[in-house]
Amino acid sequence: MTMLFLNGTVIDGSGRLIERAGAVVEDSRLTAVGPTAQLEPRRREPGITVVDLRGMTLMPGLIDTHVHIAGGDFEPHREGEPAGLAAFRTVEAATRTLMAGFTTIRVSGSRDHLDIDLRDAINAGALVGPRVVASGRGITTTGGHYHNWCAVEADGVDAVRREVRAHIKRGADSIKLMLSPGVATKGANVNSEHFSLEEVQAAVYEAHKVGRPVQTHAIGIGGIRNGVAAGVDSIDHGHYLDEEQALIMKAKGIYLVPTFGPVYYYVSKREAESWRIARAEQVEPLHAKAFRMALDIGVPIAMGCDCGAQSRMPNGSNALELELMVKYGMTPMAALVAATREAARLLRLSDTVGTLEPGKAADLVVVAGNPVDDIRVMQTAVKMVVQGGVLRRDDLGLAGGATGAGA
Ligand SMILES: [Zn+2]
Repeated sequence: MTMLFLNGTVIDGSGRLIERAGAVVEDSRLTAVGPTAQLEPRRREPGITVVDLRGMTLMPGLIDTHVHIAGGDFEPHREGEPAGLAAFRTVEAATRTLMAGFTTIRVSGSRDHLDIDLRDAINAGALVGPRVVASGRGITTTGGHYHNWCAVEADGVDAVRREVRAHIKRGADSIKLMLSPGVATKGANVNSEHFSLEEVQAAVYEAHKVGRPVQTHAIGIGGIRNGVAAGVDSIDHGHYLDEEQALIMKAKGIYLVPTFGPVYYYVSKREAESWRIARAEQVEPLHAKAFRMALDIGVPIAMGCDCGAQSRMPNGSNALELELMVKYGMTPMAALVAATREAARLLRLSDTVGTLEPGKAADLVVVAGNPVDDIRVMQTAVKMVVQGGVLRRDDLGLAGGATGAGA
């Protein structure tokens, strides 16, 4: 199928915006991006599907580098559910995510390695869902963050090394390490650390040796320090990040994935247990300050919502994170770049996705309006989703036929 998009605003994922522009999709790839005047003559090609984007914005499919979809959205009583039921809930959450315009996700810790199997089922064509970068269960210390939810416990350099290798053997694309307690870890001092520097170094060595990025849950400064010193790829959350570590992150190209979603959910929606809410209230101002400082220093930023974690922020509401990134100091364009080009870089997928460029996969989102004027349209006005050149959502029938959720 060849699709010709014309007359829209194009945001290409690199920070560039082109008015009265469009793109050409041939089979699974983008073959042209540019002004309507340049692309218009192709309208005459036989069999081409013309999509008029007047009043709308075309951009790369969004990439969320930090979600939890295994078992669906978090509910306390669901932890012990049978794996089969958890798998079906996972599929439903993945569908919601794709329909929200997120064509690529990294799953950051999953019961039963469900994300790996989800990825394989999607890649085999058995299911429709986003491109999945899978982390398997994730690795924590004995009694550490998420030990009672999804992560495998490992202590000591050899045990950590073995767990990283076991994750890779099972099919993990990325390694998730819990470097500090969480807002959701009952009883633990949130500003303390889990793994030792030597343990983190062993994990990073094993992961990088086979080209896998290392993602970290790191809230406390001790955990952040160990991650940064060991050369992990991203510090996720980063509430207690200080200037010294932010400067090293910038120098080493280590990403900050702030994940504002959970704290927003705890503090504003208050659907979780009261002790979790109290802890979130305690770290919220620190988080805001740390992020502002990281922006001023120029630490690379990638988007991750932490949907599906204990805050009750549901999968499919990923784009709320963009609004929060803007609220805490980013421009709307910078937030969009963090969810496209930068997220692709962090996940080592830049050759395939993240920007609108000829040769890249045709993963596209169309929204009514312009997110640079109001970032909230990313939550409320997604009208079309294309994945690898296949129409997944078309609310307005722009490509000649509406498809429903899950199509
Ligand atoms: Zn998380």
